Amino acid sequence: TTFEELGLDEKVQKALAENGFEKPFPIQEAAIPLILQGKDVIGQAHTGTGKTAAFGLPLLSKVKNGNRQVQALILVPTRELAVQVTGELIKFSKYAQVWTVSVYGGQSFGVQTGLLKRGAHIVVATPGRLIDHIKRGSIKLDGVKFVVLDEADRMLDMGFIDDIEFILSRLGKSGSKDRQTLLFSATMSPEILRLAKGHMREGQIREIRL
Ligand code: AMP
Repeated sequence: TTFEELGLDEKVQKALAENGFEKPFPIQEAAIPLILQGKDVIGQAHTGTGKTAAFGLPLLSKVKNGNRQVQALILVPTRELAVQVTGELIKFSKYAQVWTVSVYGGQSFGVQTGLLKRGAHIVVATPGRLIDHIKRGSIKLDGVKFVVLDEADRMLDMGFIDDIEFILSRLGKSGSKDRQTLLFSATMSPEILRLAKGHMREGQIREIRL
């Protein structure tokens, strides 16, 4: 399989070639078509398998860049992962003109609020700092159409379950019928499946285990 065959936006494909991505990794081959079709995907994947591009590339293809509000929210356990995921998305946004901002603890609110004000299509966030932004009113999440829970097992191990539930409850019920939820985790415990299925749409869920 080639990236062209997976159905990604041409502008995203153009950036792939420039970044030395020649062939999709297995998780990408499995996840990209499902995400482009609008499915809620539960993917078992370890770091290093290419899972960031597996959800990132279809999101970059789906986000409407004319509409400058937060359309995709990616929750990650750590600041390091937030920086890494954001970097990967920015690499592939060159032609698609999609703006990604990361918000995580340890960086000043001023910097993050300034970037959010300029308009972000995709926000990559650690749960605690995102909640601070929600409470300060510096981020609006009512236009979110895509949610990614990345490294969900680590987020649960770190005690973020209530934070995640709070954040997901703030996305609003209206629009939840067409909101796509994606979850990636190295391990799949009953707790993770419960979290995923509690927020995914019946009949739209697809599981990938490689
Ligand atoms: P990840 O598992 O998302 O952290 O990705 C691991 C590494 O593989 C990152 O450095 C990616 O940039 C790289 N990578 C992901 N997919 C591909 C691909 N299809 N071709 C070449 N490199 C890739």
